[in-house]
Amino acid sequence: MLTAIIIFVGLALVFGLLLGYAAIRFKVEGNPMTEQIDKVLPQTQCGQCTFPGCKPYAEALAKGETEVNLCIPGGNDVMLLIAEITGLEPKALDESVAVEKPKETAFIDEDVCIGCVLCIKACPVDAIIGATKLMHTVIQSECTGCDKCAPVCPVDCIDMRPEKVSLENWQWPEPKPSMESTPLASQYLVTEKTQ
Ligand code: SF4
Ligand code: SF4
Ligand code: SF4
Repeated sequence: MLTAIIIFVGLALVFGLLLGYAAIRFKVEGNPMTEQIDKVLPQTQCGQCTFPGCKPYAEALAKGETEVNLCIPGGNDVMLLIAEITGLEPKALDESVAVEKPKETAFIDEDVCIGCVLCIKACPVDAIIGATKLMHTVIQSECTGCDKCAPVCPVDCIDMRPEKVSLENWQWPEPKPSMESTPLASQYLVTEKTQ
């Protein structure tokens, strides 16, 4: 009996050490550029960049998979900072989409919902709860307003509505990022003014 216990403890120690070594040896580091970009984004999680939030946009930028000019709330200031960090060419915001709008969240008309779960599959942040053939609802505090759920609803029962401002969710406006510390940004601004 004692021998069996000693063998089990010994094996547990060996596997523990192996797992600890593997965790250190094969640790996957996050991309530091993603963190850098994420820091300059406004963090309103509004989804206007077509990504489900600021972090996914930062990740796509760090991989070079998207454009620098998609964050409408951040405006040209943020676009220039992104260009500075990524080394990508600055690109003016598209005037056709450069309209700031208040943050919206999704609402489901629970009387109309048929419980097809398509919206749950589309939601990148798991903000929708429900089950097959049962009504669904949106956890408002989790919804980033990315609008990925509304188009997939077969009965058109998802509405995007402006978020109600309350004492719980009101925030001071984000300070604008400093432009003085970004030579490329300053250069771009000068070029833009002289055009
Ligand atoms: S558009 Fe909205 S979600 Fe996208 S990066 Fe800007 S603030 Fe974040
Ligand atoms: S509920 Fe809809 S709008 Fe809200 S985060 Fe999920 S997919 Fe986006
Ligand atoms: S996609 Fe529409 S009908 Fe289907 S579960 Fe979601 S809200 Fe209900």
